[in-house]
Amino acid sequence: MNQTIVIKVGSSTITHETGLLNLRKIELLAQVLSDLNNFGYNIVLVSSGAIAAGRGKMKLTERPDTLPKKQAIASIGQCELMYIYDKFFSQYSKVVAQMLLTKRVMVDPQLRENATNTIHTLLSYHAIPIINENDSVATDEIIYGDNDTLSAITAKLIKADLLIILSDIDGLYDKNPNLHEDAVFIPVVEEINETIENMGTDSVSNVGTGGMHTKIQAAKIATEAGCDMVIASGKDIRILYDVLDGKAVGTLFKGK
Ligand code: ADP
Repeated sequence: MNQTIVIKVGSSTITHETGLLNLRKIELLAQVLSDLNNFGYNIVLVSSGAIAAGRGKMKLTERPDTLPKKQAIASIGQCELMYIYDKFFSQYSKVVAQMLLTKRVMVDPQLRENATNTIHTLLSYHAIPIINENDSVATDEIIYGDNDTLSAITAKLIKADLLIILSDIDGLYDKNPNLHEDAVFIPVVEEINETIENMGTDSVSNVGTGGMHTKIQAAKIATEAGCDMVIASGKDIRILYDVLDGKAVGTLFKGK
């Protein structure tokens, strides 16, 4: 059976510092994922970026500051984001499919079963599901609030072989390297114990909402479900080839 890979890209990977979409990176992402799909991998993409796309479309210089504004911009932006993905993936004859999920979908057995079946059916069509949280209706109670958790739950749901989280950092360090010069890189995590969990406590990010803490929690969900997880730098999307070739890039959390 073909291996199933879930790839999560955060806002910081696919936007410029201006907060607007980085089209060159999105185009390269579409090319690399299409190529991996041609190679035989089942590909599921978990992508943020709806607000960035919405701001671009509406030419907003400021970030939306109220919940209704954020949700309206996310709604405009989700449409724009999928249009852009569809356009780029179409260049490589790939079919993409949008799935907007909330926590409710993941905890309600019936909805969860429907979502699982939909993803499996899409993969059987060689389509590439592109998943995001349903930002335009979600409230705090029904969102994970970060796509790190959503991607891990998705990987668990569909029994993926590998979850790759592309981040603004090249992996896990023993402490935040942006705050501590002597931080030491951790290439492999065999077991997520308290020491590992404490490594993610101080996070700094401009556009991402996750931080290292949510990535370690995501790793717990994925590895407990038997899925390996890698955190790697999203600076050059072609790093996905290195990860799948088993090269020593990023931090590998070994699945149980
Ligand atoms: P992204 O949205 O790109 O995934 P996040 O802000 O969610 O980025 O998470 C990555 C950030 O987590 C890093 O840029 C760094 O500032 C912070 N961080 C905190 N603790 C650590 C750690 N122990 N190792 C690596 N990064 C850490």
